[in-house]
Amino acid sequence: MFILSSPSGAGKTTISRMLLDAEDEIKLSVSVTTRAPREGEVEGIHYHFVTDAQFDAMVEEDDFYEWAHVFGHRYGTPKGRIRNALKEGQDFLFDIDWQGTQQLFQKDQQDVVRVFILPPSIEELRRRLESRATDADEVIDARMERARAEISHWDAYDYVVINDDVDACFDKVREILDAERMKRQRQTGLIPFVRELMS
Ligand code: 5GP
Repeated sequence: MFILSSPSGAGKTTISRMLLDAEDEIKLSVSVTTRAPREGEVEGIHYHFVTDAQFDAMVEEDDFYEWAHVFGHRYGTPKGRIRNALKEGQDFLFDIDWQGTQQLFQKDQQDVVRVFILPPSIEELRRRLESRATDADEVIDARMERARAEISHWDAYDYVVINDDVDACFDKVREILDAERMKRQRQTGLIPFVRELMS
């Protein structure tokens, strides 16, 4: 369970997309959300968009690995198809916030890798948020406040990568994934292989 978190504007979505394009062996865990789709977002690809009542029903049915309130909406990781795939050793990328990260870590410490992406400076973060949308200053200010609140959770992650260059940041994230895959306890089939070597 490879988790990428960051304040919005730090480049997490770009890095996630690059990772999914470059790595055939990792799949995205598609979250469920009560927020409305943004332009260009596709049901089942970016999110599963549901009503509040549908979300309530899923909570009731214990259908989530984790869920949280984020910016006035609810978001959750559905157990759905990923539960069996995880058991079979499929890697998944999770684009979730610090609250979801904490919940997944509490459930499955051995299988979780937590990566936090930071912007190179607060000025650059503001610049990225400003260039992204034609929002009013108050909206940008509110986003900056939220970004600061998110950044405060940086120390609950295993890895922190500063995104001052998107290609360099992507390379680092990929190195983390590669190294974590090589951890002894994650390499299935190693015991019979080594036995064979020693026999
Ligand atoms: P957005 O609405 O911009 O797509 O996402 C807002 C925030 O919600 C992002 O920080 C994103 O990582 C987080 N998020 C998306 N899906 C989930 C989820 O399933 N669980 C949790 N805890 N956070 C999520």
